[in-house]
Amino acid sequence: MKIGILSRKASLYSTARLKEAARQRGHEVRIVDYLRIYMNITSHKPIVMYGGETLDVDAIIPRIGASQTFYGTAVVRQFEMAGVYSANESQAIARSRDKLRCLQLLARAGIGLPVTSFAHSPKDIPRLIEIAGGAPLIIKLLEGTQGVGVVLADTDKAAESVIAAFRQLDTYILVQEFIAEAGGADIRAFVVDGKVVASMRRQGAAGEFRSNLHRGGSAESIRLTPEERSTAVRAAKVMGLKVSGVDMLRSNHGPLVMEVNSSPGLEGIERATGVDVAAAIIEYLEKKAEKGKTQDRIGY
Ligand code: ADP
Ligand code: MG
Repeated sequence: MKIGILSRKASLYSTARLKEAARQRGHEVRIVDYLRIYMNITSHKPIVMYGGETLDVDAIIPRIGASQTFYGTAVVRQFEMAGVYSANESQAIARSRDKLRCLQLLARAGIGLPVTSFAHSPKDIPRLIEIAGGAPLIIKLLEGTQGVGVVLADTDKAAESVIAAFRQLDTYILVQEFIAEAGGADIRAFVVDGKVVASMRRQGAAGEFRSNLHRGGSAESIRLTPEERSTAVRAAKVMGLKVSGVDMLRSNHGPLVMEVNSSPGLEGIERATGVDVAAAIIEYLEKKAEKGKTQDRIGY
């Protein structure tokens, strides 16, 4: 198979590992900077151009950065128009990037979530806080990553001022129940084509409630409970993602999904678990990548 990896940089761990795994399994691989892809979007025969040539691949693995979702998903869509199989579809990537949309879809499917509220008007701030059960509360930017847009407010007063400040900047935020019993840890299930291929527990640095590895958290391999496993698989399915990282909190009443990532990093999970996650992704493409097999049926 000819596989294109859409990534800004060949030297990124995940990109390099995917390339290596594809080569080892006998495929031809190209790493393509998706910001350098251009296209004639009105052509009857949709094609994707890169530095003066037409890109001819059988399947792509999109690794779209959070700050480039708009252009990145347009590129993935163009490949789909040309009948190229994408490891994750453009619609699913776009959907997963919006935390609100993600939670609405997961809630509709009956998946456990931290109680979360959302509003437009600053006048409704006290009601938002009430719905989420009062302080301590988590306040989250809709499109943050790596823990940057996530704040813990210890009191209702603090929550009110943080929410008001964000709204002043015209950014939308989610107000969420703080799951204290998670103890600054979360679990990441790496799901490929409906199966959990690896899972880890991440623990935040001392005094840090955010367990993101980018914030100094540490990771170890864990076994998921059957309930955690099925929650992760269902969450990935609800989002329409074939390759995803499902993040959950261990609460007193079972696993609660926080988010579903469409370009989950391989470094943390491979190092913590020793599983060849890159090979699992390539294997999935070997089984499922077929020309023109690109339709998303999730709705919304
Ligand atoms: P990001 O997309 O920036 O990673 P997350 O929603 O994953 O944002 O939150 C970052 C981290 O903060 C999580 O990995 C988790 O450790 C912690 N966290 C987030 N939401 C909650 C919550 N409701 N209760 C307890 N901890 C939380
Ligand atoms: Mg996260």
